[in-house]
Amino acid sequence: MKDYDKISLDDFMDYVSDRDPDQPEFSQAVHEVMEWVIPYVRENKDYHITGLLERLVEPEQVITFRVPWQDDKGHVHVNRGYRVQFNSCLGPFKGGLRFHPSVNLSILKFLGFEQVFKNSLTGLTLGGAKGGSDFNPKGKSDDEIMRFCQSFMSELHHYIGADTDIPAGDIGVGGKEIGYLYGQYKRLTGSFSGILTGKGLSYGGSLVRTQSTGYGTMYFADYMLKALDDSAEGKTVAISGSGNVAQYTCEKAIQMGAKVVTLSDSDGFIYDKDGIDEEKLAFVIDLKNERQGRIKEYAEKYDVPFNEGRPWSVACDIAAPCATQNELDDKDAKELAKNGTRIVVEGANMPCTDKAVRVFKEKGVAYAPGKASNAGGVAVSGLEMAQNSQRQSWSFEDVDKRLKEIMKSIHGICEKYGGEDNGAINYTKGANIGGFIRVAEAMKAQGVV
Ligand code: NDP
Repeated sequence: MKDYDKISLDDFMDYVSDRDPDQPEFSQAVHEVMEWVIPYVRENKDYHITGLLERLVEPEQVITFRVPWQDDKGHVHVNRGYRVQFNSCLGPFKGGLRFHPSVNLSILKFLGFEQVFKNSLTGLTLGGAKGGSDFNPKGKSDDEIMRFCQSFMSELHHYIGADTDIPAGDIGVGGKEIGYLYGQYKRLTGSFSGILTGKGLSYGGSLVRTQSTGYGTMYFADYMLKALDDSAEGKTVAISGSGNVAQYTCEKAIQMGAKVVTLSDSDGFIYDKDGIDEEKLAFVIDLKNERQGRIKEYAEKYDVPFNEGRPWSVACDIAAPCATQNELDDKDAKELAKNGTRIVVEGANMPCTDKAVRVFKEKGVAYAPGKASNAGGVAVSGLEMAQNSQRQSWSFEDVDKRLKEIMKSIHGICEKYGGEDNGAINYTKGANIGGFIRVAEAMKAQGVV
């Protein structure tokens, strides 16, 4: 790729796919960004910096390592560990760790790449990274999870640090796993420093971090509705997933006076037409976080329907996919549009397929990509790092207020770069161009590195 005057999306995507033909999720994520960035770069000579885009799609470092661990019966298992350190031009690498059997390099590169733009949008000094393992925590005892985390950190600790790379949680990595990872880091290095975020409150964690991705997602949904002279109050919300992001998207929706009617897991979804209230949500949080239960048990306890599949056939004003990538396709998108959905706000990373996003555009459903709408998690991780550096703890209200301001600012960036002549906001365009500009300016200033 040489001449950015004539660069085309197809040529650039051929370049990306030829280099890594076995990484479909990564190609999909690059396509989503470059669809907007390439036309912008073509028109803006400021960004005709040789090799800028090629450097953007190549991680700075990819570390893979063996993670051997012993189960309770003494059998040895070997998983694969990864850290994809994608881009540090805006600050130390920052991004979660995912423990799930589907984890591979393609998925972690897609997540790391997304993270670069998401972190840029927060306005904080954070680079982008992602990591994890194909380890499946489901059905494992606490001791097994602890031994796995200790083995994982025994290798990872060589590559992270409070000023270099600060991992956090993601699918399969919650407060418990972060605790075990942190303990092992401290034991190996003797250093009590902010090398992970999502820590427990007793050892350097931040208030609101647990809630931040879900709360931020609903704050963003409310700003989207405000841009349409409306609000989240009184709206019906369909949420997928029942993990961390789904739980706190649900909690904030309830607090905003909306009615949440679905939650799901990989077995299927519950439909509660009366709405999930605080008490029912407390049941879900206990079920999922303490008892490793299945969402089906909600249907049995509250006598509501449980269906296999995904919740997108349910009529709702707001759809919030909060489970995993590619969980909402074009068929689902048509169904949502037909049933009158006004906005789709991604709590998960890349849950909507490219085709689904095109349907939303055609049908006039406002759609926010996760890099904008779920950035609240990493934003509060950034605030946790700031508190750790100062050896201070801020109040819940203070952190929540900052979170809300950051979500408002991201909405403003989307409006600035994605505002259309008819007054609508193209959030995909706005988030990708807005995220790109800050990264490109920093890469330009720092030279070819
Ligand atoms: P959790 O592990 O807490 O929960 C994941 C949820 O998604 C579970 O309900 C799980 O169901 C469901 N799920 C996972 N895989 C699948 C699948 N293949 N099909 C259907 N359902 C599935 O993870 P989080 O809530 O932390 O993360 C959810 C999403 O949000 C991810 O995309 C993550 O990258 C993104 N995200 C998370 C952030 C955070 O701060 N935690 C920050 C920003 C984005 P089951 O129990 O059956 O596996």
